[in-house]
Amino acid sequence: MDVNELSKEFGFAACFTLTTEPFEYYEKRLREGSLHWAADDLSTDISKEAPWANAILLLIYPYKPFRDDVPVSGNYPASNAAYHASGKMMRRLNDNGVRTERGEVPIRELLTRNGVGTPLKNGLTYLPGFGTRYSAQALLCALPETVYTPVQPRQEARCEGCHACEHICPSNAISDSGYDFTACARAYMGGDPMEDWVMDSMTCILGCELCQRICPYNFVTGYVEDVPEAFQLEEILSGKIKPVLKIVGKNLNKKGRVIQHACVIAAKQGRTDLIPLIEKWCSDEREGVRVAADYALKKLRT
Ligand code: SF4
Ligand code: SF4
Repeated sequence: MDVNELSKEFGFAACFTLTTEPFEYYEKRLREGSLHWAADDLSTDISKEAPWANAILLLIYPYKPFRDDVPVSGNYPASNAAYHASGKMMRRLNDNGVRTERGEVPIRELLTRNGVGTPLKNGLTYLPGFGTRYSAQALLCALPETVYTPVQPRQEARCEGCHACEHICPSNAISDSGYDFTACARAYMGGDPMEDWVMDSMTCILGCELCQRICPYNFVTGYVEDVPEAFQLEEILSGKIKPVLKIVGKNLNKKGRVIQHACVIAAKQGRTDLIPLIEKWCSDEREGVRVAADYALKKLRT
């Protein structure tokens, strides 16, 4: 079975067939406490957790961002589409007798240890031809014949002489020594009540795109021309969340996250016309929503 051809059928631009050796570097960083708090959820030793698998298929789904004046991250619509596309490919492989399951593995180490991707100062991984705007999906597979993607020499960070992301980061999370997730405002936009400094740093719904937007490795991708109406602040703040979740993934409004972000962006845009809609969220049962609505009203009324 030609997994590269199959991956194209499901909309992926590249498919790498990689080995299942343990993720030792990730494991070490985990032990040192140097990784994000969600890092524990990933598998670091496939030989123990899925001993039947002989390969990791790494599927690359590139995406274009929305234009700079559209305050929505293009990452989540693409990630959601890539997740579903990889699910379909997984089912096809299983239907053809090739055992396949999702792999929740450290993608960055997978990319860099095989020389497929290069780490950048902003914590993201550059892939030639795609920049850092792609969703990577991993499938664990028991392939009948395994032809691994040749390992390339490991690339060093390609940031020499560039400080663009350091200068634009609103929460000073990037320095010459790299990316500090504890200072990255985006790491605190997951649904829990946001502190003022996080909301002050927010520039778009579902995250922060600034260090990607400014990075010269992303200058080639172009933009998505059609912005779904579902992303209009009026729609979200009226409570019409389902159309947004259909695009970005149904688990993305955890603790009212999308509504929280819409409140903050409304404040950033000076949308005083939306005050009546925001006021209604001040008595929401979710604390994070109340905090964001209060923040937005304070900004809009001063
Ligand atoms: S995502 Fe935003 S806050 Fe986080 S490092 Fe990049 S620019 Fe800074
Ligand atoms: S903006 Fe410059 S320093 Fe930052 S990741 Fe991109 S190339 Fe590296």
